[in-house]
Order: sequence, then C-alpha cells, then structure tokens
Amino acid sequence: QLTTHDNRSYDVNIVPTGKEEPKVIVVFHDITEINRLEMIRKDFVANVSHELRTPLTSIKGYTETLMDLQKDQDENATRFLRIILKHTDAMAGILNDLLNLARLESSSDGNEISVQPVQVKPAMAMAQKSLAHLVESKKIHIKEDLSPGDCTVLVNPAHLEQVFKNLLENAVKYAPEMTGSICIRIRDCGDECLFEIEDNGPGIPLKEQDRIFERFYRVEKDRNSKIAGTGLGLAICKHIVQQHGGRIWVTSPLETSSGSRFSFTLKKV
Ligand code: ADP
Repeated sequence: QLTTHDNRSYDVNIVPTGKEEPKVIVVFHDITEINRLEMIRKDFVANVSHELRTPLTSIKGYTETLMDLQKDQDENATRFLRIILKHTDAMAGILNDLLNLARLESSSDGNEISVQPVQVKPAMAMAQKSLAHLVESKKIHIKEDLSPGDCTVLVNPAHLEQVFKNLLENAVKYAPEMTGSICIRIRDCGDECLFEIEDNGPGIPLKEQDRIFERFYRVEKDRNSKIAGTGLGLAICKHIVQQHGGRIWVTSPLETSSGSRFSFTLKKV
C-alpha cells in the first residue's frame, strides 16, 4: 500500500511482463474511500458498544438488587428476574466481544500492545479453570498432551488467555453432551510454540473453514441452532494471533475425519 502526501491511499500491484526486454505494468488502485469508510465503521462499533455498556451495567445491578430484595416471596417474579439477568449477561457478552475486537483493530492500526514473556502451561490452566463449570455440566472429557519442559512466548498475557478461552469455549460448546471429548496439545517446535485444541463435535465444512475467522460469520446450520454465539470469537483470536506474528487455522482431525482441530503458533522467547 502507498499513501501520498495529501493522504490518499493506493493499492499498488506490480505485474512483470515482456519476454526479451523485461518490463513491468504498475497498477494503482485508489482505496482512499474504502479506508475512510472502514475507519468510520470501526469508530462506530467502538462508540456504540461503549455507550451501551453503561445502561446495561445499571439494568444488571438493579435486577440483582430486586432479586435480593424479594427473595422467595414471589416465585414468578424471581423466575422473570432470572430471565432478565440471563439476557442481560448475554448482551454484556456480545458488547464485550465487540469492544475487544474494536480495541484490537485500533491497535493493529499502529497503537502498541504491551507484550512480556508468558509461560504457556499456567496460562492454559487459567483458561481451563474459567470454563470448568461448563465442562462439568456437559460431562466433557479433557485430555492434555503437553510437550515436556516449558514453552515461554512473548505475548500480551490477557490476549493469550482470551485466545485459549475462546477456542476452548467453542470446543466445549460444539462438542456433544456426555460423549464430548477435547484434546489440548502444546508442542515446542524450535523457535515457535504450536497449540492445538481438538474436539469431537460436528466439525466445520471444508468450504467454510476460511470464512469462520471473519467477524460475525457463523456456519449456516449453527445460525438457527440453539447454540448461542455472535461469530466474533474466532475473529478476535485471528487478530490477536496475527498481531503477535503467529498463524491460526482449522482442520478436521485426520484420524477421525470428524470434529475440529484449531491450531495456532506463537514465537518463543
Ligand atoms: P460463535 O460465537 O458463533 O461461536 P466464533 O467466531 O467463535 O463465534 O465461531 C464462528 C463459527 O465457527 C461458529 O458460529 C460455528 O459455526 C463455527 N465453529 C467455531 N468453533 C467450532 C467448533 N469447535 N466446532 C464446530 N463449529 C465451530
């Protein structure tokens, strides 16, 4: 990309041509307007999510207080308040994802993220702990296959935990109840660490495997299913991993040809 002194942006493509005399064709594509609209979209998402958080926090606070005040007095009122609280928490989750993504996008626009050496096994254990209740309630079996020794990577600790949490949460969400099983693998591969989270859920159709990392994208059959989701979790993972110079992708485990295997890499210290 090229930016001129009057702040116009161009995509530049150089195409080699000519056999005897080497020549090139240079194609300039003006993307100033596309960039401007993208900036407006990012600002809009960040501002709206921020503004919605305050009233939502207030609704949640008052609902919890009402529940405490009227404890066991009216069964219906308690039931309705519990439903309000459940939906408020779901909305707060969506707003959190939107804000996280907006912040990540603004840091990929040049704002620095702070990184430090992080030991990966304790970070993974923290993410697992935060999902223990979900794992327990679906009776999912988790197997760990961790390389001996410790891997230390250079990351923002909160970001690494977020990636672990999003991928694990998906594995738990899409794995079947009672027979669900998840394998967590960490491998020391020379100058990088490889992470894999594998489940025996429905898997992801080949033609959709690239698209699931786009924001708001959900696999067709999940859009109308009972499994709640925003389609933002993987977009957040992709942003974080790429910002730290790593790669992230999904495959179907070859051995079983069903289920999903999410893999990502990060540079070691
Ligand atoms: P969501 O909040 O919808 O789970 P994500 O961005 O985390 O959003 O995932 C995008 C979509 O990718 C999901 O809606 C689902 O269709 C698919 N997906 C993600 N993880 C898995 C998985 N482990 N097994 C099957 N499908 C998955």
